[in-house]
Amino acid sequence: MPYCPVCGKEVSEEDEFCSKCRTSLKEPWLRPVRRREEKDEKDEKDEKDEKDEKEEKHEDDQAGAITGGLVVVWLGVSFALRNMGYYPWADMGGVFLLGIGVILILRGLWQYSKSGVLDHGFGYLVGGAFVAFLGANIVFDIRNTWAFFVIGLGLIIVLRALMVRGSNPTP
Ligand SMILES: [Zn+2]
Repeated sequence: MPYCPVCGKEVSEEDEFCSKCRTSLKEPWLRPVRRREEKDEKDEKDEKDEKDEKEEKHEDDQAGAITGGLVVVWLGVSFALRNMGYYPWADMGGVFLLGIGVILILRGLWQYSKSGVLDHGFGYLVGGAFVAFLGANIVFDIRNTWAFFVIGLGLIIVLRALMVRGSNPTP
């Protein structure tokens, strides 16, 4: 692709005017430039950016697929365990939720470890913690629900503070 000689924006061969700075590209003294080195450099850079983006996207897809797969696997496992008599039907939902919560927490940790930015996985961590808490509540019939709820919330806040501090060390 040629570039506008004035502002450097990419233009097409057919363009009469640069779409950015409106310079006429048909004037003979202002033909779109196509310097070989510049072009190669830019193309390489574009390709690299594209590749990075694809990799990120790919990792996101991968994480989503792994999470979804684990949820399905866990659903099967909790059914199998129930059928083998490890827990009554009443606890089935709780066991399932507990596992989903753990999977979501792992997903959050994975995302955090990939990016090093806690905020990227924080939603999964908090969501996972709540779902796991809900499941544990059903399975273990926790009486002091609110006490455990507050303890869990406090732990999340502490964990977040520790992780944020770890990623931005203060001098
Ligand atoms: Zn221009």
